Amino acid sequence: MLAQKIVDKLKVCLDNPNRKITFLVGAGISAESGIPTFRGKDGYWTSGSVNYTPQEIGTFRMFNLASVLVWKWYLYRKSITEFALPNQSHFMLKAIEDLLGNQFALVSQNVDGLHRKAGSSEERTFLIHGDCDFVRCGDECSRELYPFPKEIDLKNRAKDSFTEREWKILKCPKCGEELRPHVLWFDEFYNEYYYKLDTVLNISKQTSLLFIIGTSGATNLPRRITENVLRKGGMIVDVNIADGYFSHILEGKDNGVIVQEKSSDFLTTLKEQIELLLSEKQKT
Ligand SMILES: [Zn+2]
Repeated sequence: MLAQKIVDKLKVCLDNPNRKITFLVGAGISAESGIPTFRGKDGYWTSGSVNYTPQEIGTFRMFNLASVLVWKWYLYRKSITEFALPNQSHFMLKAIEDLLGNQFALVSQNVDGLHRKAGSSEERTFLIHGDCDFVRCGDECSRELYPFPKEIDLKNRAKDSFTEREWKILKCPKCGEELRPHVLWFDEFYNEYYYKLDTVLNISKQTSLLFIIGTSGATNLPRRITENVLRKGGMIVDVNIADGYFSHILEGKDNGVIVQEKSSDFLTTLKEQIELLLSEKQKT
């Protein structure tokens, strides 16, 4: 059962087609597909006798110093995401998009490509941390995105392997410099071109109901999104197993709801509720 507050707000939103119902999602959504967050211990990487944290290795600085090391780490991550399948949460998000049409927006911190595999549309999905299925020039000779090279074998990949041949494949087709993964690194900033910064901030200002699911809110853009929604009088629903930044800022607020539930269960209930409200609307 959804909280009455959420149902009431949903009704108001459905009567105002130019207001958005937005979903801000993070690693918690993909955990059921077997994808680690790569921010914690799963992201640690050992090379020789040195142990790197994700915050050290996932940086443009490290790519400049030791691009082979960074690529080994990414190819290992890619070998996991490549064969992962979307789960119930991804499919429910896709079903909710189908119900809501242009009122729907999905802002995702996940780079694993699972929204695409579940059928979410490119137009209403905003990948604010990039997309593992693409690479781009590490030297920015152009801003073009290239599909991740099919010639790189991701099956049965040894954790630390990297061949001469792969090194040749991972070169920019225009200038011959090294390609890089199309993801936002820890020492980089959001922008409109790659990460849809302005578009997403605009959407946040049109959002009457924001669902935050499976993210602890560690980065700057999610915080700005929530501030915009609250400032414009929107409601925020935080769905998380554990307390995080968002549950703290929403605690005691009239237009905040905290739900401690699995994302797949919550999204299934929500999808059914939206279906019900839409069919009631059709009758009147
Ligand atoms: Zn280039």
